[in-house]
Amino acid sequence: MLLDHLQAKLDAIRAQDLTRFTRIAETGTAPRQTVRGADGVARELTMFCSNDYLGLAAHPAVTAALVEGAQVYGGGSGASPLVSGHSRAHHDVEALLGRWFEPHIPEARAIGFCTGYMANLAVVAALGDADAEIFSETLNHASLIDGTRLAKAKVSRYAHCDVEDLRARLAASTARIKLIVTDAVFSMDGDIAPLPALLQAAEDFDAWLIVDDAHGLGVLGETGVGTLEHFRLRSERLILMGTLGKAAGLAGAFVVAHRTITDYLLQAARNYIFSTASPPAVEHALLTSLALIRGEVGAQRRASLRALQARLRAGIGALLDRHPTLTWKLADSQTPIQPLIVGGNAEVMALAAALEREGLRVPGIRPPTVPKGEARLRITLCATHTEADVDRLLAALEACA
Ligand SMILES: *Cc1c(COP(=O)(O)O)cnc(C)c1O
Repeated sequence: MLLDHLQAKLDAIRAQDLTRFTRIAETGTAPRQTVRGADGVARELTMFCSNDYLGLAAHPAVTAALVEGAQVYGGGSGASPLVSGHSRAHHDVEALLGRWFEPHIPEARAIGFCTGYMANLAVVAALGDADAEIFSETLNHASLIDGTRLAKAKVSRYAHCDVEDLRARLAASTARIKLIVTDAVFSMDGDIAPLPALLQAAEDFDAWLIVDDAHGLGVLGETGVGTLEHFRLRSERLILMGTLGKAAGLAGAFVVAHRTITDYLLQAARNYIFSTASPPAVEHALLTSLALIRGEVGAQRRASLRALQARLRAGIGALLDRHPTLTWKLADSQTPIQPLIVGGNAEVMALAAALEREGLRVPGIRPPTVPKGEARLRITLCATHTEADVDRLLAALEACA
């Protein structure tokens, strides 16, 4: 019977300390948030877990634009983009993002999606047809992996950041179309993919490079355009997916690429064609949040973020020096994602629970999201954290060490 079958699976998950559950956030996204835990008690916690890296979700100009957008457009979009859901605001966001990426991708055009998960399924499945071979990085996000499952293309997985492994696979391939697929910033490790070397491989082997910049957009590059700006890349072979629910503080995603590619996605991407377009008010507000990213607010917040990262890394480094027998390891990351690798599942969850008793929410990440034996605290920083917030986290970690 189905219920017994599923209960047995749930019991097996629990036996491995892998049960997941949601908590109810009673207040909006911000470094301090009131959250109701599994025990039903609401507490104010300092959050080191959101991907709202620039703190734009709570920026007054973004909220005001959302209200204004709702006054102009009302609620939902009512239909998929090709029917009647594509508003003036949707069009303007795509046009703006196309201009952002023009310095990096000749003939750049953007096409919007409701979520990054959808955008990744769309681009990988639509381009990865039977004529193609996909070269997928081992630590890619689940949505890219699911895209390869939907694709008709043959799939070859190359080792993490291992350009030589990739080049050998490209050299051995006889596929007419070759697609390299990678996260730009790895979401559970915080490290940055070697995009210049990957692009060189694409050029040498007549391949295309699909880059998921969910965690780079807004954060990396002098003006927040992301990882392509960080490395100053420019090539027609670049196909970039960006999300708008992380540093942009709202929701949605886009693919930006040479116009022939986005023209094709509009004809062929099933999750673009068969899904209701995002609410126009959200798109209207995105015009404000994207302007903030590239303006003075974005520049200041990126600088704060870098200073907080340096403070946290120095503090954890000193802590590990004081406790040489600890097996914790701080991942080598230059981004706001700062994972502290602890090891066992129960161990990481006990540490996360101890921090939570101190009023600090740092999620424990376990397999299958990360490899077995590499369970970790995934600390993420936002520009709106204070130095005192970071110091409290360091003190609480010291007490647990
Ligand atoms: C969050 C994330 C996505 C999915 O984006 P959503 O807009 O949240 O659906 C895709 N790729 C990576 C690397 C991510 O971290």
